[in-house]
Amino acid sequence: MMLLSVENLSISFRTDEGPVTPVQGVSFDLAAGRTLGLVGESGSGKSVTTKALMRLLPGSAKLAPDTRIRYRDKAGQIVEVEKLKPDARALRALRGGEIGIIFQEPMASFSPVYTIGNQMMEAIRLHKGLRGRAARELAIEMLAKVGLSNPAARVDQYAFELSGGMRQRAVIAMALSASPRLLIADEPTTALDVTIQAQVLELMRGLQSDLGMSMIFITHDLGVIAQIAQEVAVMYLGTIVERGPVRDVLKDPQHPYTRGLLKAIPSLDRLTRRLHPVPGDIPSPSARPTGCPFHTRCTEARPGLCDRMSPAQTSFGTGRMVRCHLAEPALARSA
Ligand code: SF4
Repeated sequence: MMLLSVENLSISFRTDEGPVTPVQGVSFDLAAGRTLGLVGESGSGKSVTTKALMRLLPGSAKLAPDTRIRYRDKAGQIVEVEKLKPDARALRALRGGEIGIIFQEPMASFSPVYTIGNQMMEAIRLHKGLRGRAARELAIEMLAKVGLSNPAARVDQYAFELSGGMRQRAVIAMALSASPRLLIADEPTTALDVTIQAQVLELMRGLQSDLGMSMIFITHDLGVIAQIAQEVAVMYLGTIVERGPVRDVLKDPQHPYTRGLLKAIPSLDRLTRRLHPVPGDIPSPSARPTGCPFHTRCTEARPGLCDRMSPAQTSFGTGRMVRCHLAEPALARSA
């Protein structure tokens, strides 16, 4: 059963230099209990895409008229997210209750003037209707679930009293205390040191499978995707350039950008290496190249074709998609 379906998500912002479109024509589905990894360099549109799912974009952002975001809520009703008014009750239920979000920097999720417990209990009151002792007990239970020692004492501490790794565990506990069906994790391990990263990743993988939650995991690190996700979408300059089951995409990448990202990973046995940076810089969305958005960095670009014509989306195999002129005939031949 699909939990989330995104069709033709395009987002534009008004700026002094004119409209800018950091996300263009993004489509993907997410089934219940699955994890989708969104991978790409910073500036590829990953975070903006997921913020749109919760309508967390600033007021100057506009969705294209043909954008469709469908979410199946806890009651089994389909929510037409792109149509929700900013003050709609369904939008409040979606944020935090249906969909939880955690960010790279855990301090951004906690207020410095309230204890961790106060903030968790407020989220529990809003989304689960529990108050007082019942809310406090659930907060302590969630802190224990994410592996914090002495949770009955931690609940009365402030975020600044915890180490970075413990704080990120507390953020995960707060997000999970409302029992969301979808968790969006925006580079949640990037700010942590390597050992703590591995522990938090392991924790998230365990929780996702225990709770049967779906997850969208944003990262620039393909090693992380290999460990945590079943599906992957590779983003470049606001567009998904390749998508499919993680194992298939890593084994047989079709897009030159995906191949560039994979250069540091010589075999599937060594998937913990970081992304090898692709030479050159990602262009600004306000100076989007004509034709294929990747042609300014692509070593395989065909002059006269790639710089003029935007490649179409080619679907193939089991749930795979690629956007590259060179992949089209090869895939057509193998079909
Ligand atoms: Fe490279 Fe051309 Fe394919 Fe774009 S369409 S990725 S420029 S080969």
